[in-house]
This record gives sequence, C-alpha cells and structure tokens, in this order.
Amino acid sequence: MVATKIDGKAFAETVRRDVASRVASLQADHGITPGLAVVLVGEDPASEVYVRNKGKQTRECGMASFEYKLADTTPEVELLALIDTLNADPAVHGILVQLPLPGHINSDKVLNAIDPAKDVDGFHISNVGLLGTGQKAMVPCTPLGCLMLLRSHHGKLDGLNAVVVGRSNIVGKPMAQLLLRDNCTVTIAHSRSRELESIVRAADIVVAAVGRPEIITGAWIKPGATVIDVGINRIESDGRKKLVGDVHYESAAEVADAITPVPGGVGPMTIACLLANTLTACCRSHNLPEPAGLTA
Ligand code: NDP
Repeated sequence: MVATKIDGKAFAETVRRDVASRVASLQADHGITPGLAVVLVGEDPASEVYVRNKGKQTRECGMASFEYKLADTTPEVELLALIDTLNADPAVHGILVQLPLPGHINSDKVLNAIDPAKDVDGFHISNVGLLGTGQKAMVPCTPLGCLMLLRSHHGKLDGLNAVVVGRSNIVGKPMAQLLLRDNCTVTIAHSRSRELESIVRAADIVVAAVGRPEIITGAWIKPGATVIDVGINRIESDGRKKLVGDVHYESAAEVADAITPVPGGVGPMTIACLLANTLTACCRSHNLPEPAGLTA
C-alpha cells in the first residue's frame, strides 16, 4: 500500500481563502473588520519569522494586523498593561503573545491575562476548561488544524481508535480532547508509556507530537491507519540540514492509508487556524453565526 499524502499546504490555502471570503462578507454586510494583535517580546529569530508570517497572512485575508515588538527587558507589568489595553480595544478580536517569553516573565500569568474571548491561541485556563468539558471554547491552533485534516480525510471519526503520542498543553492534551469530542476512543501516550509500539499499532488514527525525529516507524503502524505528524525536527543527514517529523515517512507510507508529510503537512495549518480562530472570535463578539467548518 502506498499511503495518500495529506497535503496540509493545499488545505491551509483553502482555509485561508475561505477566511478571506468570509472577512469580505463581514465587511460588506456589517462593516466589521476582524483584527489580530500579535505581541513579540525579545528578538528570538525563529519567533520573529513566525510573527512576520502571521502579520502577512492576516493582512492577506483582509483582516487588520496589529503588531507589537517589545524589548526583551520589558517588565512583566508593562506587558500586562499592553494586554489590558488590547483586551479593551474593540478593533482587536484576537490576541496572541508569541512564546517563549523571556525568563523574567511568568508565561501563565500573561496568557491568563488575555480576555478568554480574544484568546485565539486557546491557552487561557478558561478555554482549557471549556474544551475539557465539551463547551464552546477557543481551540489551540495546531490541534484544530490536525482535526480539520482528519475530518477532511475521514469525514466522521466516530468510534475510531486514536492514539496521541505526546501530552503537552499546546498539542497533545487539546488534541486528545478534540478527538474525544469527535467520538474517538482516545489513548494518550508519553515518555513513560510502556510498550509504546503496541499502543500505536492498535490505532486507526495516530497523532505524533513528540519532538523526536522519526521515532515512529512503519513497523509501528496498523495497516490502513491515518497518521498525522505534528513533529518538526531539524536534523543533519548526509551533511545536509533538513526537517523531519516524528514519523519515519517512507516506511509509514508503505503501511498507512494516509499520512501528513513534514514539511507541508500540519505546519501550514497552524497559521491558517489562527486566522480561522480570529474570525470565529470576531463573529462571537458581534453575536453573528460562527464560520461553519472553521471551528471545532
Ligand atoms: P513538548 O516537548 O512540550 O511535548 C513532547 C511530548 O512528547 C511530551 O508529552 C513527552 O512526554 C512526549 N515524549 C517525549 N519523548 C517521548 C518518547 N520517547 N516516547 C513517547 N513520548 C515522548 O512538545 P510539543 O507538544 O510542544 O511539540 C511536539 C512536537 O510538535 C515538536 O516537534 C514541535 O516542534 C512540534 N510542533 C509543531 C507545531 C506545528 O505547527 N506543526 C506546533 C507545535 C509543536 P512527557 O510528558 O512524559 O515528557
């Protein structure tokens, strides 16, 4: 069997076009422009690239982008004051604070200072609780992107055995909650799990969010399974630097029914879902119907 490649890059483009068309309708019908504020503290080069991309894609969708670059010596109290200002600004529907923050700033305190209705990253403790109790929440972007890819490939996920490898707050745990919400039977595995290989082999759906290059090989995959590879690992092979996932693509593709590549799989979905979440937050704040197909 040669698995279908789930093309996250193409799907993300479809999501962005969908968001742009709904933004145009919001402007035409209601005079509303969704706005996303992105706050970067410090000069981490990777974070600067992410923030630039987020701003660019936000503007390309017709939304307003507000970008704040603060020095890495910015006191926590100053960052909290900026968040208060953005919370109160009606032109801002989504607020994202780029992580990681410098060590002198308490990330939890900052994330929990964001108005939960504007928390487009879905990291506020209220949104975590809402998701965990099956209520309407802002859902973290990467797991939302994985869910969209899975739904587009499978349709309904009811009754499928899903294994999520990784239990981080930003990927593994919310992913498991979303799969449970879509009626999968969910197992969460982590670094202390015993017999990981046989746990993975029982899965109809494998979501790998580990951060270990190609730890999951084709020998671990149940024939016909769907594999979503969240991992982004930079390795050197034959003297060349390259990106690989947590799954060994070639061997897994011989066994699986469908698989996301790295790069070009889950990665592009993350920013697309940030745009979708900003649109959702805007619609909710104006009591307008939510953008169907772009929420969990
Ligand atoms: P974390 O480091 O926060 O979590 C990794 C998880 O993997 C932990 O739960 C850890 O278990 C588990 N783990 C580590 N080693 C093993 C092992 N040998 N066997 C089983 N489980 C193991 O990472 P993130 O969740 O933030 O990210 C995971 C990967 O996804 C990374 O490669 C990251 O770069 C990528 N990523 C990609 C995104 C995208 O847009 N595509 C967005 C976010 C992340 P334990 O809890 O026991 O330590």
